[in-house]
Amino acid sequence: MKRIGAHVSASGGVENAPINAHEIGATAFALFTKNQRQWSAKPLTGESIEHFKKNCIEFDYKPEFILPHDSYLINLGNPDGEGLEKSRASFLDEMQRCEQLGLMYLNFHPGAHLQHYSEEKCIQVIAESVNMALDQTTSVVAVIEVTAGQGSHVGYKFEHLKSIIELIDDDSRIGVCIDTAHIYAGGYDLRTKEAFHYTFKLFDDIVGLRFLRGMHLNDSKKELGSRVDRHDSLGDGQIGWEPFKWIMQDERFDDIPLILETPDPNRWPAEIAQLNGFVERSL
Ligand SMILES: [Zn+2]
Ligand SMILES: [Zn+2]
Repeated sequence: MKRIGAHVSASGGVENAPINAHEIGATAFALFTKNQRQWSAKPLTGESIEHFKKNCIEFDYKPEFILPHDSYLINLGNPDGEGLEKSRASFLDEMQRCEQLGLMYLNFHPGAHLQHYSEEKCIQVIAESVNMALDQTTSVVAVIEVTAGQGSHVGYKFEHLKSIIELIDDDSRIGVCIDTAHIYAGGYDLRTKEAFHYTFKLFDDIVGLRFLRGMHLNDSKKELGSRVDRHDSLGDGQIGWEPFKWIMQDERFDDIPLILETPDPNRWPAEIAQLNGFVERSL
């Protein structure tokens, strides 16, 4: 079945995220396990962890339908030694928090070279960073997000993801998250059936659909190939509703978290209901 949710607030404690997800009719969700704009965070308390697990069971969110997202400050490809060290320590902390919460995934943006070295070099540094974190944890899968390629971010070409995955020691612990707004801004069209199928065929040929662990469902304010990351509510942007209908009616996207990061949380219940409606109509 399709698992549809949104990146919900965890303010007041991670245990609130499953409650917030349930309230909008979600069957999957994403969250930050710490404040995403600060480097340091207090460790999760035993009480918070227990409440989180209890709420996930109560509202039927299995770990495979939960896609935690790492902090925006982390740059695993940082050419600056100090910045890289800080990023690696913070990423490891986030992986450990996920393990404490009994979660399977940590979704992260690969990194940016800040014009200091090539994309190839940046990709090598990112892979090394991920390998270091995987070595020090036991189960969490690091899920690379396809980027829009804004600024000096790598990861906007499927080939970048393939190169990172090839450098990871244990490929059972690496996955990919496709963000529809990001791939569109990165130059992968979705707007016609032909373009849609071609884009996912390319992804399968280059990366492999077996690595797909989740998706972010966002419309894009910016045009195809713009390399600018601006999410829009579904149907309001350049992509339009149709491709989201095709995703809902495509069994390749069953049983993975499909997460809205659209800009208006008030519209999430309606967006989720509309997406679920597409699934029912296809039966
Ligand atoms: Zn992201
Ligand atoms: Zn984005």
